[in-house]
Amino acid sequence: MGVTSEQVTRVLNAVPKGLLIGGTWISTEKTVPVEDPSTGEVIAEVADASTAQGIAALDAAVTAAADWAATDPRERGEILRRAFELLIERAEDIALLMTLEMGKPLAEARGEVSYGAEFFRWFSEEAVRIAGRYSVAPTGGTRLLTMKQPVGPVYAITPWNFPLAMGTRKIGPSLAAGCTVVIKPAAQTPLTTLALAAVLIEAGLPDGVVNVMTTSRSGDVSAPIISDPRLRKLTFTGSTGVGQRLIEQSAKQVLKMSMELGGNAPFVVFADADLDKAVDGAMLAKMRNIGEACTAANRFIVHESLAAEFSQRLAERMGAMIIGRGIEDGVQVGPLVDNAAVEKVTELVTDAIGHGAQLLIGGQALDGPGHFYPPTVLTGVPTSAKMFREEIFGPVAPISTFSFDDEGIAMANDTEYGLVAYAFTQDLTRALTVAERLETGMVGINQGIVSNPAAPFGGVKASGLGREGGSEGIEEYLETKYVGIKL
Ligand code: NAP
Repeated sequence: MGVTSEQVTRVLNAVPKGLLIGGTWISTEKTVPVEDPSTGEVIAEVADASTAQGIAALDAAVTAAADWAATDPRERGEILRRAFELLIERAEDIALLMTLEMGKPLAEARGEVSYGAEFFRWFSEEAVRIAGRYSVAPTGGTRLLTMKQPVGPVYAITPWNFPLAMGTRKIGPSLAAGCTVVIKPAAQTPLTTLALAAVLIEAGLPDGVVNVMTTSRSGDVSAPIISDPRLRKLTFTGSTGVGQRLIEQSAKQVLKMSMELGGNAPFVVFADADLDKAVDGAMLAKMRNIGEACTAANRFIVHESLAAEFSQRLAERMGAMIIGRGIEDGVQVGPLVDNAAVEKVTELVTDAIGHGAQLLIGGQALDGPGHFYPPTVLTGVPTSAKMFREEIFGPVAPISTFSFDDEGIAMANDTEYGLVAYAFTQDLTRALTVAERLETGMVGINQGIVSNPAAPFGGVKASGLGREGGSEGIEEYLETKYVGIKL
């Protein structure tokens, strides 16, 4: 049975719609509408923060900072652990909320709840493992003590494509490290972050430790926070263009920052690949989140001996996917987030065809309501096509071919981005050689998904700075202090 309208109403009504500042929900006269991308209908209105309210949120985070930093690590961890359990208990409601505001199919939204909640469990375990070092100076006498301390108040900016996981991936390590937070979700998907904040409060988080700001003016409201000397850390996930602007703004006060930016993942299928595994991997790497993922395979680079069969099998699988509203039973492909996304994908596909690519399936936006674009496979895509350089962020698989390993690797590395790459081969030596030569922060070998809370997620080149998750994740929220002790 599909989702009922009563369930939708209950889940939407349960979400607080105000700003969370210092433990109080504050409503504003002006509001920001939230649309369901599968219908274009407004499903909720949330508060629209002013620049003064942005600074008030930072005030609250600053006020709460010392007490939170001094809270026992075990207690910080247990609050995160309780929040993890509450997220799992409420998984169905949170998944539905995400599907309503973002469009992803319910099955994928459920997957994101498990993945997103896991960051709280992982960092609840990391909170009690923050350690320093003690050593004797090489020349003797002096002792060297290093300690880790919370960096201080954090400003977190998250995108719309993974509304829960991008929040927990930043809030989890902040809280574990002893940092307080102001979080600003994307205006298109604020509801999941508001529901997440309510869960944290229920889990026992003290007032002011996490503050939530929703706004229609992200730039105007963020700039004064970023230039406020009391802020100590900026963590951003979003496009490379906005990230670059934020890096410039952060330079003035030499802000510690983490930047999870855009991607242009190559998916390389070598001549000896297991084709079943490669097609399964391609389905995941391309179609997860309707292709709206920074880790989405953006360029399929397939050995010429396998290209025809790979393309045909991928087209069959993608062409058989069920398109529709994410809340309906069995739907596998939801809408894109907005009309601009449909226009961008349409432009890239038209450009590739203009450069000589052949269309196997899809290739035409669907009629509304909603912002639907069908799974699309293109073969013979030349490297001169725009989609070879730009993030597609939609369900389009462009396939190009190569003849020699060196050529395939060079094509894979021919991008300013460096988030993730996928490689399919059955040869261990080739797999390791390729993993070493790919210029990315992450590599998936014979698998089409790499995200894992226990692993360091992040990119090189224009894909960003810093890592989220793994034991590296908490380091981004800690400063190292060295104390020299003369005996
Ligand atoms: P975006 O336009 O860069 O927006 C990301 C966030 O930044 C949103 O909260 C947005 O708020 C805010 N923002 C926009 N302009 C701002 C400004 N001048 N000052 C402060 N904040 C500002 O990106 P998006 O379209 O939401 O997300 C898609 C991008 O995120 C893709 O490039 C994708 O690759 C990347 N991404 C990367 C990762 C990763 O881990 N590397 C993960 C997921 C997504 P408003 O929307 O309210 O303006």
